[in-house]
Amino acid sequence: MDSDGVKAQRISSKRLIGKVAVITGGARGIGAATAKLFAENGAHVIIADILDELGAKLADFIGGRYVHCDVSKEYDVEQAIQCALNWKGRIDIMFNNAGIAGLGGSITNHKMDEMRALVDINLYGIVHGIKHAARAMIEGKIGGAIICSSSSAAIMGGLASHAYTLSKEAILGLARSTACELGVHGIRVNCISPHGVPSDMLISGYRKFLGNADLKPEDVGKIVGERGSLIKGRCGSFEDVAQAVLFLASNDAGFITGHNLVIDGGYTSACSQMS
Ligand code: NAD
Repeated sequence: MDSDGVKAQRISSKRLIGKVAVITGGARGIGAATAKLFAENGAHVIIADILDELGAKLADFIGGRYVHCDVSKEYDVEQAIQCALNWKGRIDIMFNNAGIAGLGGSITNHKMDEMRALVDINLYGIVHGIKHAARAMIEGKIGGAIICSSSSAAIMGGLASHAYTLSKEAILGLARSTACELGVHGIRVNCISPHGVPSDMLISGYRKFLGNADLKPEDVGKIVGERGSLIKGRCGSFEDVAQAVLFLASNDAGFITGHNLVIDGGYTSACSQMS
C-alpha cells in the first residue's frame, strides 16, 4: 500500500481535545506533521523552533502559538513551556523532537567542540525539555505525556555519525530513568525511534555520507525503500511518525511509560537481511 492509501485509512478520533502540547523542532518535518495532527485532534499546540518564519506560519495555520527556542539553551526551553502556561494555564504534552544530523567522518578526526555542540542540541535539548515540562506538570497536578525523539541509530549504530548515535542512545536511558521518577506524578516518558523518513535532516545526511550534493528527496526515499524497510519497499513518512507520537501522547497509551516505540518499517528487526 502506498502512503496515500495509508492516509486514506486514517481514523480521525479527536484524541487530544483540550490538551496543551509543546513541540520542539515543530517548524518542519516530523515535528510539523505532528503539530498538524495534534491540532486536528483538538490540541492547542505551541511550536518551539529556531526557524521563525516557517514556525510562525505553521502556528498561524493550525491556530497555535510560535516561540523562538534554541533547545540547547535551557532558558529558551523554559520560556517555551511558560508560553503554554501563559496561554492555557497548563501543559499536558511535551514532544522533544528537535534534532540535527550527525557530523560524519571517522572518530579519529572528530573535533570535540563540534561533537559537544551536537550533543548540546540532540541530548541536552531533551534534558531541558523533560526538566521544565515535568516541573510544570508536577505543579499542575494533571499528569502528562513526554515523548522524546531517539532514532534507529540508538539501536543499530550507524556509520553516518558517532556523535548522533551517542546522543540518541543516551536519550533512551534518560527517558527510562525519568519515567521511573515521574510515574508517581502520573507523568509518562516515552521515546520514539524513527528510521528512514526523507526529511531535510535525513536528505542532508545522505548527501554528505554519499558525497552527492545533487541527491533528491525521492532518491533518498528510494534508497531507504530498497535497503531500509521491510514494508513493500516504501520509506517512512512524516505521517507514520506523527501517528505514533499521537498514540503515545493520548490516553490510549495511559499504561505505557519508559518505552521506545520503533517506527522503521522493520529495519532494526531485520537489518542483517537487508545489508
Ligand atoms: P528536520 O530537519 O526536518 O526537523 C528538525 C527540526 O528541528 C527543524 O524544524 C529544525 O529547525 C529544528 N531544530 C534544529 N536545531 C534546533 C535547535 N537547536 N533548537 C530548536 N529546534 C531546532 O528533521 P526530522 O527528520 O523531522 O527530525 C526530527 C527528529 O526526528 C530529530 O530529532 C531527528 O534526529 C529524529 N529522527 C529522524 C529520522 C528520519 O528518518 N527523518 C530518523 C531518526 C530520528
